[in-house]
Amino acid sequence: MLELLLGVVLAAGATYYVLLPILRPPPEPAADTGSSDEGEDPDDDMSPRAVAFRALKEIEFDRATAAGYCARCGTALETDARYCNSCGARVAA
Ligand SMILES: [Zn+2]
Repeated sequence: MLELLLGVVLAAGATYYVLLPILRPPPEPAADTGSSDEGEDPDDDMSPRAVAFRALKEIEFDRATAAGYCARCGTALETDARYCNSCGARVAA
């Protein structure tokens, strides 16, 4: 009976240590030396600021891609072109 109890306690303890970082993430490290250690692994950084930053970069990428080529004929467009130089299609501003 004692061994069973010990096993249950050990199993519960192991489960607790496994779930602890998931259920309760550690607090943000103290900002002691500014931002020297930021961006170490940005893809794994799920802080709201990092997520917003990545989303912003994706939006900029999509915008650049959309402005880069004519949607109708695929001709490369000038940065501030309003109409395609090749087919004359209107380019979304
Ligand atoms: Zn075109």
